[in-house]
Amino acid sequence: MSDHWVQEIWRMITLTIGLLLIGLMVGQVFLFLFISCLIYLGWHLYNLYRLEHWFRKSKKFQPPEAHGIWGEVFYQFYRLQQRNRKRKRKLTSMLKRFQSSTAAMPDATVVLGARFEIEWFNKAATQLLGLQFSVDTGQLITNLLRHPDFFHYITSKHPEKSAVKIISPVNANLILKINLVPYANNRHLLLARDITQLHRLEQIRRDFVANVSHELRTPLTVVGGFIENMVDAEDECSQQWQRALFLMQQQTTRMRSIVDDLLLLSRLESETTSNFSEPVNVAKILTELYEEAFILSGERHHNIDLQIDKKLCIAGHRDELRSTFSNLIVNAIRYTPEQGKITIRWYSDSEGAHFAVSDTGEGIAAEHLPRLTERFYRVDVGRSRDQGGTGLGLAIVKHVLNRHGGHLRIDSIVDQGSTFYCDFPIDKIIECTR
Ligand code: ADP
Repeated sequence: MSDHWVQEIWRMITLTIGLLLIGLMVGQVFLFLFISCLIYLGWHLYNLYRLEHWFRKSKKFQPPEAHGIWGEVFYQFYRLQQRNRKRKRKLTSMLKRFQSSTAAMPDATVVLGARFEIEWFNKAATQLLGLQFSVDTGQLITNLLRHPDFFHYITSKHPEKSAVKIISPVNANLILKINLVPYANNRHLLLARDITQLHRLEQIRRDFVANVSHELRTPLTVVGGFIENMVDAEDECSQQWQRALFLMQQQTTRMRSIVDDLLLLSRLESETTSNFSEPVNVAKILTELYEEAFILSGERHHNIDLQIDKKLCIAGHRDELRSTFSNLIVNAIRYTPEQGKITIRWYSDSEGAHFAVSDTGEGIAAEHLPRLTERFYRVDVGRSRDQGGTGLGLAIVKHVLNRHGGHLRIDSIVDQGSTFYCDFPIDKIIECTR
């Protein structure tokens, strides 16, 4: 027990005994005992009043003078208060430092509450997003940034995993990339970066590839047409040049495939809207592709198996999805030796809808997997060319899946085989129409 409590107990005993003795002397024991209780209670009430008054009304930092246990109580409260003040000062200076560093940032930073209401923002948010300090604090960000892509992004399940590009509401020439980062207790940090320059460079690259591909298309068609005529002519000249004509025909076909794939990629990149609402009957597409796969497999006699959920449809673009599934099935046939097994699956689980094509082919070493969707990236360039590959198939697959909110997953073991998965989020599953 601390000294203060010992002192306090002594104080109470002395008071009671003192007044008890007086009571005995005057023959009024109970009256004086009652008076001693009243005095003791009064003293505590008085100190309690002083404590409460100090907390609520007094502007003094120092606590009032007190003796005994109340002196200790005042002192402990005083220390607690000191600690709190120190912490507050530290937090305030940290907050000031944070605010001045974020204010100096060229990127817009907006602190959003649980309902996406604006709590705080820096100067760049005024320049890039047009937020006004006096009017917009407390407003919902979705009321101020009314771009449909932004609304779709901010209300999506995991916005932190992606970003959205929008035109600045202040200046139509500015392109902004917006990221939403969730943090403590349902709060969000919205970051907007000016990517106009980058966007322009990307646009120039895209236009260049699209224009070159477009310009090459006509001469290739003309050359291809003449070669075909010469092959068909079967005259003396054609006989003499048969091998050369065959190679020329093969190469023009290959170049045409590359040009077509490049044009398709450019189109996929430039089309921004991706809010598909039409149900795509994937089972029907896969049944068609399954039949085509047998033709493509030809004399290599692959063992092809189809396991599909016929009632599972997703919202999407039919032709884009068909070309994606077709690319993956064609690859499985290309890179699987004779009589290998290929399994095509279409199913759903708690995460969403999945397309999977497994093969027992050559497999892909782990170091190639991260780069496989890059344009023209091939594990074995010669092998891919011999098989008629353009090196653009998986890049197309990745773009189509991005536009459908899905992603490509690859499991592969060298010499054992690969499985390519297309994972679609659960909100893309939609009721099939007939
Ligand atoms: P390509 O037209 O060359 O097939 P893709 O973009 O479709 O181009 O594929 C890129 C590379 O990935 C291929 O060149 C090949 O090396 C590898 N690849 C794709 N699918 C498979 C598969 N099922 N098995 C083994 N390797 C594969």
